[in-house]
Amino acid sequence: MEAKMSLIKIIKQLKNEHRATGEQLYQLITNHDEEIGEYLRQQAEEQALAVFGKEIYLRGLIEFSNYCKNDCLYCGIRHSNAKASRYRLTTEEILACCQSGYAAGLRTFVLQGGEDFDFDDDHLTAIIYQLKARYPDCAVTLSAGERSYEQYRQWRQAGVDRYLLRHETALEHHYRRLHPPTLSLAHRLNCLQDLKALGYQVGTGFMVGSPFQQPENLVADLLFIKEFRPQMVGIGPFIPHCDTPFRDFPAGSVPLTLKMLSLLRLLLPMVLLPATTALNTVANNGHQLGIEAGANVIMPNLSPQDVRSKYALYNNKRSYGQEAAEGINLLKKNLATFDRYVAVNRGDYPGDQYE
Ligand code: SAH
Repeated sequence: MEAKMSLIKIIKQLKNEHRATGEQLYQLITNHDEEIGEYLRQQAEEQALAVFGKEIYLRGLIEFSNYCKNDCLYCGIRHSNAKASRYRLTTEEILACCQSGYAAGLRTFVLQGGEDFDFDDDHLTAIIYQLKARYPDCAVTLSAGERSYEQYRQWRQAGVDRYLLRHETALEHHYRRLHPPTLSLAHRLNCLQDLKALGYQVGTGFMVGSPFQQPENLVADLLFIKEFRPQMVGIGPFIPHCDTPFRDFPAGSVPLTLKMLSLLRLLLPMVLLPATTALNTVANNGHQLGIEAGANVIMPNLSPQDVRSKYALYNNKRSYGQEAAEGINLLKKNLATFDRYVAVNRGDYPGDQYE
């Protein structure tokens, strides 16, 4: 009873002051009491409603290339996966995706891809200029991995508003177990600092239940994110891909992912937090579960239908129905069943990004 009371107290403090110590976060993460879990979820949902009301922000996701020079051990489009069928969208194809997304009411386009250096500064820069010229009322988010300060600067100058670069895991020894020796946490964190310095709205994040992850890792992830103060956080369960070294590891758990969403919502009340495709892949009603745990963003897939199955970061990735731009009406219907509505705007961070 006393233990329960102390957990309730921690959650109240999270709700009122948006902070907790590592020890307190550890207690919440490792506690499996249902009542406590439900209380945490309720507080997080309330917090999201207080900041965003019943509006859900949409972002149209365009997976522009699945070529990648990296070899992340968890990822299905890693360089050494010879079975991956590689593709690269043309400028015209990308603009056509935006056109159909715009017609469906989307006002943010997220261009995501592997670290494909054929899409160098100039190529992507040219696409961004065209996109911004055609859709001046839209925000552009880029998610193209680790690049130089100069490249980030050029893209920012071309009009990119936001950048997604998950830190993946905040502790060095765990980072090394998930990535090849050519990649380092220090370099990734440097990139995040560069992006912030250049005035991007920055998104970071991690996988829940990645191989070798312990509760200590999740605590470190939350504390890192709290300190870094990103405008966006993307998290989802790890899901194995059959052509990677992690093929035999189990997928991350849905309840733990939801708990992490709730903790993030309370730690960073205004953060833009998607109910991710990965969550919606492992849970049937992942959008609803995520939103009711504090998420406020959904990213429908805008990629051309024939390449969707090729951008396979993990097995059985959802890219149809509610998860797709052509399914937006279905998505709207589903959202309405739990009293949420789609916002037709850019969906910017509601706080001051330099606060
Ligand atoms: N190359 C870009 C985009 C990476 S893909 C970059 O480096 O940022 C986007 C995210 O998908 C990754 O950051 C990773 O967290 C997630 N991801 C990759 N493989 C996954 C898997 N097997 N299960 C769940 N999420 C995965």
